[in-house]
Amino acid sequence: MTEHDPDCEKCEELLQGYLDRDLTLEEVVIAEGHLDGCDYCRRRYRFEERLRRYIRVSASERMPAGLLAKLTELRGPTADKF
Ligand SMILES: [Zn+2]
Repeated sequence: MTEHDPDCEKCEELLQGYLDRDLTLEEVVIAEGHLDGCDYCRRRYRFEERLRRYIRVSASERMPAGLLAKLTELRGPTADKF
């Protein structure tokens, strides 16, 4: 399973920072290099990206109570960084 690939673990670590444009150049190169060759992480990245965009739009239109919590749940173990 790719989920236990150490490269994937590293990539998941970097993903939040990558979406926040919060990585060093070296980390961006690692993240992009991995995303380029890994379907699993690319899907995860797209999901996170869509989720962020959706939350931004929803937040500006007043998100119904509970929805944010539900979305946060979907994010799983990275939810604490939310
Ligand atoms: Zn991966």
